[in-house]
Amino acid sequence: MNKPFQVLALGGDHIGPEVVASGLSVLRHVSARYEIPVEIDEDLLGGASWDVHGTFCTDTVAAKARAADAVLIGAIGGPEWDNIQIDGPITETDGLTRLRIELDVFNALRPARAWNALLSRTPYRHEVVEGADILVVRENAGGIYYGEPRGREVQSDGQIRAFEISEYRTEEIERIARCAFRAAQARRGHVTSVDKSNVMETGRLWRETIDRIGRDEFPDIRLSHLLMDYALFAVAKSPQDFDVLLGDNLFGDLMSDLIGVISGSLGMLPSATLPGIARPGHPLKGGIYEPTHGSAPDISGQGVANPIGTILSVAMMFEHGFGVASAARAIEIAVEQCLDSGLLPPDLGGTTSTEDLTLAILERL
Ligand code: NAD
Repeated sequence: MNKPFQVLALGGDHIGPEVVASGLSVLRHVSARYEIPVEIDEDLLGGASWDVHGTFCTDTVAAKARAADAVLIGAIGGPEWDNIQIDGPITETDGLTRLRIELDVFNALRPARAWNALLSRTPYRHEVVEGADILVVRENAGGIYYGEPRGREVQSDGQIRAFEISEYRTEEIERIARCAFRAAQARRGHVTSVDKSNVMETGRLWRETIDRIGRDEFPDIRLSHLLMDYALFAVAKSPQDFDVLLGDNLFGDLMSDLIGVISGSLGMLPSATLPGIARPGHPLKGGIYEPTHGSAPDISGQGVANPIGTILSVAMMFEHGFGVASAARAIEIAVEQCLDSGLLPPDLGGTTSTEDLTLAILERL
């Protein structure tokens, strides 16, 4: 038997542990079915960690995450912890960001598709959204979220000045460009890169670099550029026209919620954030897999959270973390069959609980 893949599961806060429990049921079931041995360790992150350890991510959890083949995360945060003031770098104030930095996961893959059973849950006419299938590739380790210096200062006239720096080095743009072009090779062969090259220095470097990598290394891929403001309009208007959307940390963040509209609910959206380029059939160690939604305190503890974003994140773990795309496809098909048979959680207008929906997906697997 092969050596088991080590998975660290961090439920986090509010609905995080509820959806991670569903994800782990699917992970265990599919790993047994496909004879892919996994060993799962569970621990605390975010507010749950703060309440026990007085820190949002302990050194132990960070070390376990660095050693794991894959990390499954629910969601962190909530009003109980959102206003805790800590002096220190962002790695002290945000446990998830600490893990992202320590694992150097820069390649955030955030897919969204229009599900036939959910077309009427979107604000679109069916013919505008049917078949839409978009992958946002977000640079997740640099840019304005991490640039230094950052902070605030009181100026001589009493005004408070807050500031952060947007910065990118060519190598950071080159590596995420390759991730997006590779992803497009496995899809429909079209990358649309977004930036603000009309007003930002980082935007100009971004566009030049993406152009060069596309021209020199991926002549088979169609490359388009859009300014970010127009991109929001164009994607919202005609989602079927887009395949891979490539953006920096900030713009990729914005686009990944935007494309969620075509899926019908934030609860449907998975993600994989990887430390490199995933190659079909080759396990990639050290990725973080998580739904893109937050901890949804408004519905926590009621057993109604939609687990599909987490379950599809587990599918991405099978594909990229373990290199078994067929297991990922099986999970996606089971999810689609449930939706087609009308089993919908409350965020999609139904009444099916988290647990019942998870059981229904397991039955179809
Ligand atoms: P949110 O995503 O938690 O919730 C937005 C809305 O979507 C809510 O009405 C919620 O009920 C609904 N929703 C989200 N996920 C759902 C699911 N799986 N099933 C059904 N409904 C779902 O965003 P928010 O309210 O802005 O943030 C709440 C907390 O989550 C904040 O503390 C925020 O900082 C945190 N947050 C964490 C992450 C993360 O861990 N990656 C991401 C975003 C926000």
